[in-house]
Amino acid sequence: AFYTKVDQETCISCGACGEIAPDIFAYDEEGISFSLLDRNEGAVEVPEDLADNLEDACEECPTDSIMLAEQPFAKHAKKGQ
Ligand code: SF4
Repeated sequence: AFYTKVDQETCISCGACGEIAPDIFAYDEEGISFSLLDRNEGAVEVPEDLADNLEDACEECPTDSIMLAEQPFAKHAKKGQ
């Protein structure tokens, strides 16, 4: 299983990830990418059929802003998860 979120501090709004993986990434009003899966919390598992797109987006991101993990990202995790 994979979890993903965008490091919005380093994203440069290049538009690559949303083109490669439009089911995972979208952009806020400033053009900064975020994960559509759970508003960039990285807590919802990436669906299996999107894994290849995610990997490609990760490779193409010029600033390595797409973070991947095998566990949910804990920053905004709710209690009991
Ligand atoms: Fe931001 Fe990387 Fe996506 Fe480009 S590919 S919009 S730098 S997260």
